[in-house]
Amino acid sequence: MSRTWDEFAIRQPIVIKMLTNSLKKDRVAHAYLFEGEKGTGKLECAKLLAKTLYCKDLADDYNPCHSCINCRRIDSGNHPDVHVIEPDGQSIKKQQIQHLQEEFSKTGVESKRKFYMINHSDKMTANASNSLLKFLEEPNSQTTAILMTEQQNQMLDTIISRCQTLSFKALPKAAFAKQLIEMGIKPILAQLIAQLTNSLEQAKILAEEEWFAEARKVVLQLCEVLNSKSQQSFFFIQEKWTSQFGDREQVEIGLELLLVYYRDLLSVLIGDEQTVVFSDQIDQLKQRALQLSQMRVMEDMTAILEAKKRLSANVQSQLLMEQLVLKLQEGS
Ligand SMILES: [Zn+2]
Repeated sequence: MSRTWDEFAIRQPIVIKMLTNSLKKDRVAHAYLFEGEKGTGKLECAKLLAKTLYCKDLADDYNPCHSCINCRRIDSGNHPDVHVIEPDGQSIKKQQIQHLQEEFSKTGVESKRKFYMINHSDKMTANASNSLLKFLEEPNSQTTAILMTEQQNQMLDTIISRCQTLSFKALPKAAFAKQLIEMGIKPILAQLIAQLTNSLEQAKILAEEEWFAEARKVVLQLCEVLNSKSQQSFFFIQEKWTSQFGDREQVEIGLELLLVYYRDLLSVLIGDEQTVVFSDQIDQLKQRALQLSQMRVMEDMTAILEAKKRLSANVQSQLLMEQLVLKLQEGS
């Protein structure tokens, strides 16, 4: 979950730039179409926008507080002026759109501002679309509609033309991994390689090298040794690690892979399991995460990044690894 616009901007820089600019200029559109693949954060973004518009304690940088009554009611789906429509079975029906219009025309609601989100809006029946169209044609200055779809080509042009379209892009790394898998690279390697490089050329080289598949194994073994709290880690570095990761470039890849493992641990801890890269290790990651705090994992990631820095400052790599494993093991 992204709780601030800045956090969200890491995933969707262009969309967030456009939305935050409109907020700053107080020119939020009457209707948006959020289009993009599943998992790109459309509904999450729509809710963040809703909170921003209703929050009672909005920060100067337009971030909602997430704790006032309005923020909490939006989270729980209980804000009287904020509605989400989802397909009822296979489709979104005319009655659902009519019900929304009735809700909005009721007196005694909280504010003049109305906000509604229609998820999978391509699933609207023709009648529902026509009802909505009339609604969109009477622009009330205080109403914001967010239509969301994974299949923009299934929507009526007349609706699309009344919305400002914002395209949500799949994470570049995820898209790249998908491309590598389509080229025949094993999924567990493709996901990992996509974390290391954006170059197709280099990706192909890594995928073909036996060295890389072995490197992945050695990193996982090291994690196991670290997890077991045994005294074997120095021995492991001397015996296994240094023979696998000989030159500086290889050590760097080793540290990069180790970092991915720790980031996966963090993803598990924050409940973001779909972003785990070592996806075939999910059970071990969950087991390990039980023993760790977020803070601890972030400290470990900092230590790995620090080691990478020292590597480029020409610190001898075995020494560097020994100091790193000592840090990763202490207190855990
Ligand atoms: Zn709030």
